[in-house]
Amino acid sequence: MDEACLFCKMAVGQVDVPKLHDDDRVFAIRDINPRAPLHLLIVPKQHIADARAVAAADAVTLARMFAVAARLAESEGVAKRGFRLAFNVGEEAGMTIPHLHMHLLGGRFLGAEG
Ligand SMILES: [Zn+2]
Repeated sequence: MDEACLFCKMAVGQVDVPKLHDDDRVFAIRDINPRAPLHLLIVPKQHIADARAVAAADAVTLARMFAVAARLAESEGVAKRGFRLAFNVGEEAGMTIPHLHMHLLGGRFLGAEG
């Protein structure tokens, strides 16, 4: 755990946030600044800085993130319509919290980039 990291604090309950999903590896929350009608964040509990830092040992955690995303897309009603899964990496991509997280966006036509 990174003591200065907001997502690490959420992972261990030091920062209380409503979670749509919470298991031993992954939790999911709603983005506080949604850019689509549905905008969720799927976050590994382990501190991984960003996609550049993902290692082979993280395979099970990454697979869990995708499984949770698919399940939430279903429960939030966008699975059949379509949705986007995205990882921002670094400053120019607009990554604001340096702890790996997957964006799940849906509920409108998203266009090529956004
Ligand atoms: Zn962290």
